[in-house]
Amino acid sequence: MTIYNLGSINIDHVYRLASLPRSGETIHSRDLSHGLGGKGANQSVAAARAGARVVHLGAMGTADDWVLDRLAQAGVETDHIARLPHQVTGHAIILVETGGENSIILHGGANQSLPDETLVRHLTGIGPGDILLMQNETNLQPEAAAQARAAGATVIYSAAPFEIEALRVVLPHISILSVNEVEAAEAFAAFGEDLPVQGLLVTRGAAGAEYRDLSTGETFRQPAYPVEALDTTGAGDCFTGWFAAGLARGEDIPTALRHAAAAAAVQVTRHGAGDAMPDRAEVIAFLG
Ligand code: ADP
Repeated sequence: MTIYNLGSINIDHVYRLASLPRSGETIHSRDLSHGLGGKGANQSVAAARAGARVVHLGAMGTADDWVLDRLAQAGVETDHIARLPHQVTGHAIILVETGGENSIILHGGANQSLPDETLVRHLTGIGPGDILLMQNETNLQPEAAAQARAAGATVIYSAAPFEIEALRVVLPHISILSVNEVEAAEAFAAFGEDLPVQGLLVTRGAAGAEYRDLSTGETFRQPAYPVEALDTTGAGDCFTGWFAAGLARGEDIPTALRHAAAAAAVQVTRHGAGDAMPDRAEVIAFLG
């Protein structure tokens, strides 16, 4: 079974500074590093490292070939990523102050200009048993969700960054809504707790996660594994990517949740987002 991921691809530029610049101030950076990010790319890498077949549907500029190499090395199929000559690759300028405070500028770039043919040409093969993953960082979300559901696929949507209007538009087409605690509160405030989806996945950081099957009323709880967290960027993407991969493998919900929690526990002990996603062997070793 294949996971199609309509998702953003970002480059994270991380600048380390003594202090964040105030208005009008110029500050020297102590260190600069570049990493793979974007909720879409993060989830693709997580699901591919979990062992799923992952086809990434997205867009980027014509430079930055290393990004495609990094995705491909993780096992993600990159043939359907459009290269747009008049767009830059999405990126985040992340300023980190000594002590950990940060400020982030996000530029969506090509992520917001996916051509329509991305779906017409590349989503036509989706069918029952397949999964469409989406997050709120690209255009074409409603079209993709409607097409995937009509084809009998499962649609898993991460409502992040949270926008009520974006969620309202895709809600009729999604099977499983994946949110963290803050996003869950916003979704409940806007649409009530009885959301029109089959499943609701809520992650609560170090407090774990739960999956509610809204058709049966059953709730599955998964504690987080106690670890020394170093950098929790991308933890939710790791969890969602692994959970989707579990469903694609035919795992039951408790097994998919356990593997996802273990993967996220490993991921938070490392720096970075997409580059920090563990593979199956690491997760099995962690679970002992
Ligand atoms: P998001 O990154 O979307 O805000 P969360 O912070 O809820 O997502 O984290 C997602 C999952 O990652 C959690 O459900 C948990 O399994 C794992 N996780 C996050 N933080 C920790 C932590 N400090 N220790 C162990 N696991 C963690």
